[in-house]
Amino acid sequence: MVGASLAGTRAAETLRRDGYDGDITIIGDEPHQPYDRPPLSKQLLAGEWEADRIALSDDDALQDLDADWRLGCRAVSLDVDSRTVALDDGSAVAADGILIATGARCRELPSGGLDGIHTLRGLDDCLAIRSELEASPQRVAVVGAGFIGAEVAATARGWGLDVTVIEALPVPLGRILGTEIGNVCAEVHRDNGVDLRLGVGVDGFDGHGRVERVRLSDGTTVDADVVVVGIGVVPNTEWLEGSGLELDNGVVCDETCLAAPGIAAAGDVARWPNRLFGETMRVEHWDNAIEQGQHAARRLLATDSEAKPYTPVPWFWSDQYDRKIQLAGRARPDDEVRVITGSTEERRFAALYGRAGRLVGVLGFNRPRHVMKYRNLIEQGTSFDEAVKIAEQE
Ligand code: FAD
Ligand code: NAP
Repeated sequence: MVGASLAGTRAAETLRRDGYDGDITIIGDEPHQPYDRPPLSKQLLAGEWEADRIALSDDDALQDLDADWRLGCRAVSLDVDSRTVALDDGSAVAADGILIATGARCRELPSGGLDGIHTLRGLDDCLAIRSELEASPQRVAVVGAGFIGAEVAATARGWGLDVTVIEALPVPLGRILGTEIGNVCAEVHRDNGVDLRLGVGVDGFDGHGRVERVRLSDGTTVDADVVVVGIGVVPNTEWLEGSGLELDNGVVCDETCLAAPGIAAAGDVARWPNRLFGETMRVEHWDNAIEQGQHAARRLLATDSEAKPYTPVPWFWSDQYDRKIQLAGRARPDDEVRVITGSTEERRFAALYGRAGRLVGVLGFNRPRHVMKYRNLIEQGTSFDEAVKIAEQE
């Protein structure tokens, strides 16, 4: 396993659960034992939890894996023919099967060497931002109103701080959820006292040793003594360059998650054709890292004729203020959108997304039951009209 996080750990557990009793080596460049990332923008950042609550597995379960853990070690190259991974400590690991689960890292903006400008991906990032928030800064600026931006803004408001969110798009999450629902996300921030600046980019940061303000592309500035940048991620594939594996915004796999014979990929780093949607996708969410890690582990144990395509309905949640936002499926901005229960004004509703006559997505604001129900209908290939009819009969 290369990558000792969610996909890698769940894959190793699956190997053992399915009866594999050979050697397992787990290589991870972070020094920490595997931990869960969602609380890093929520409970841990809010100071409600401490780091000991986010372990992915307890010590006994990790022990039961009987794995050779190489933590704090970076994989630097892969020889595909001999299936050998070279590590930055000069050692190498050869294996019958390799899982690539190296995830993704944050895109960054040039900080000009100023303190107080952060990205959020790992435990250490979270603890650094938390100690800044605990010090009661005057103003927090968040760049990007995607998932990191929205959740960090909500958590910083929970600390009672002044928050400005700067987003390049005219509508937050508009490229995923469409204009109507993206506008609801914007209103939720405003309802909660965030100063939201939309359709404007960041030119740079000013300060003396420490950040004091953010310069925006429209010529205005935003005062800030802490900045969190959440402008998307880049898949960690550099170590695979020159290996012969196809790299294109992730590790390109076949529909069973295989990148080459005996080499599979899973989680944020993997890109594969999902037959259910007729689309090649890379999914950056928690549930997929687990499911795909499990699927890829089984793929490594299977023969080619036993291998099954990986055809999930992707699913995620995001906690922002007192709202739990969930989306199952693949929404696009030009999809037909129908609110089937509740209303966008009260910020409690469920909406269906349709494309080419098919139900392709369901979104819920504090409506978990609807999301799970219509997720099943997406899996069954239900038409959009049929799904709307079912909703009308509820
Ligand atoms: P990662 O978790 O990125 O792990 C990859 C690991 O590989 C890392 O430890 C990395 O350091 C290591 N690595 C990279 N390169 C190398 C190398 N060359 N050699 C060795 N090791 C390497 N999803 C949701 O659905 N809901 C949420 O609420 C949610 N909240 C989130 C909050 C935050 C702050 C973050 C950062 C993510 C959140 N996610 C959420 C997304 C979810 O956590 C990710 O999709 C998931 O962590 C992906 O797991 P992964 O194992 O594929 O990759
Ligand atoms: P993201 O969801 O891709 O959002 C990044 C946002 O920042 C996009 O709207 C992007 O707009 C905007 N942006 C890009 N460049 C900008 C700039 N220079 N100035 C202002 N805005 C800019 O990524 P993220 O929020 O950084 O999250 C990082 C990763 O963590 C993702 O994989 C995400 O899935 C994961 N995560 C998930 C959850 C969850 O599922 N609840 C929670 C936290 C984190 P463009 O589209 O125009 O680039």
